Amino acid sequence: MAGQARGKVTVDVEECKGCGLCVESCPPKCLELAPELNAYGAHPARYTGHDCTGCGICFYCCPEPGAITVYRMKAKAKALAPAPVPGGEHAAAL
Ligand code: SF4
Ligand code: SF4
Repeated sequence: MAGQARGKVTVDVEECKGCGLCVESCPPKCLELAPELNAYGAHPARYTGHDCTGCGICFYCCPEPGAITVYRMKAKAKALAPAPVPGGEHAAAL
């Protein structure tokens, strides 16, 4: 399902062993194994480029430290109401 990405993932192809655990565990299915081989002769995981929610599940299930990095988008700051002026609009005249 297409949605606004809230995260992004990068894979270090030379650290990835191509086990596919991240591909299987990603809820929106936004990871895949690349057709190319890395130095280990494995097909490394890669981000399809859309729909990552930044949940981090792929990071936690990956057995190779440093193979996968998850970035989360910063939540937009909510607009704040203007601060109340002490005394109201006639305060300066008093
Ligand atoms: S952070 Fe979550 S949504 Fe993004 S690629 Fe990893 S498992 Fe998939
Ligand atoms: S879980 Fe880690 S080692 Fe396995 S394919 Fe994904 S990034 Fe590569």
